[in-house]
Amino acid sequence: MAKIKLAIVGLGKIARDQHLPSLAASDAFELVGVASPHNALDGVPSFADLGGLLDAVPGIDAVSLCTTPQVRYEIARLALQRGLHVLLEKPPGATVSEVVALAQLANEKKVSLFASWHSRHAAAVEPARSWLEGREIRSVTVNWKEDVRVWHPGQAWIWKAGGLGVFDPGINALSILTRILPEPLMLQSAELRFPSNCQTPVAASLVFRGTTRMELDFLHPGPPCWDIDVATDAGRLSLSKGGGEMRLNNQLLSLPHCAEYPGLYAHFAALVRRGSSDVDTAPLQLVADAFLCGQRVEVAPFVEP
Ligand code: NAP
Repeated sequence: MAKIKLAIVGLGKIARDQHLPSLAASDAFELVGVASPHNALDGVPSFADLGGLLDAVPGIDAVSLCTTPQVRYEIARLALQRGLHVLLEKPPGATVSEVVALAQLANEKKVSLFASWHSRHAAAVEPARSWLEGREIRSVTVNWKEDVRVWHPGQAWIWKAGGLGVFDPGINALSILTRILPEPLMLQSAELRFPSNCQTPVAASLVFRGTTRMELDFLHPGPPCWDIDVATDAGRLSLSKGGGEMRLNNQLLSLPHCAEYPGLYAHFAALVRRGSSDVDTAPLQLVADAFLCGQRVEVAPFVEP
């Protein structure tokens, strides 16, 4: 089967850390171009923007948009209008309505749109979903804490409107929760803590209807904590390492090896071959709800070391 000719748009940290190695190891994709304002890749045709790349390199089938979320919509729209299949990094857009509009356009153009959530491809996510199916959920506790200075050094866009702040990692937890829990989540209240010099929060506490609670912290020192605990009528399920590990009543399960980004690209290839899309806005809607109803508290300014 012919490989899908794919270009990367936005050659930043995640493109280099995850997309390039996954594509290099993939039988389904061939990297044929890069569009990035200030970056180029040796040996691959590289242009400052997608329009320039598409004019110069014929036969591109698909693009992965690894840009900052604030600029994603216009680029995705151009790609879909030119008949390309599109993979959106998370979060799929700066607003929910952008993503809905893109899904409609992909449908009209009969191309695949994949609003990807990399954490959903972590090893424990599908086993957790199967185990929780049909169980009575008694409580859900999420602690999602990391040090932004370690994981996102110098990324000023995170602190600007549309950059999500602590919800940039927090949306990964929401993408797992909305996949594994048997019932939809509904936000009840939230407290969002904004540094006085930033337009996005550095920490947040979320309360969902029922018994789900979430604590997010972007200034957590030391090793990150990406944990979800679910108490059920049949015992306790715990996910750690961002969905990489699963425990049942504190017993670690042995799971088949599964890497997030190779799984994500395998899913994208399957969507393209089937001619279908996968666009779930639920995690982004919950973040939007937190911005809609959350109480805002001002905290000390964020200072990049
Ligand atoms: P980043 O290192 O700041 O890279 C973002 C890239 O976007 C930059 O390299 C920039 O290219 C490019 N860009 C900005 N405006 C553009 C435009 N108009 N056209 C084309 N490219 C443009 O950020 P990142 O960490 O890779 O994050 C990017 C996305 O991936 C975010 O949505 C983030 O949530 C997601 N993500 C990040 C991680 C992570 O660990 N960092 C993990 C999973 C997902 P130039 O430098 O060439 O200007």
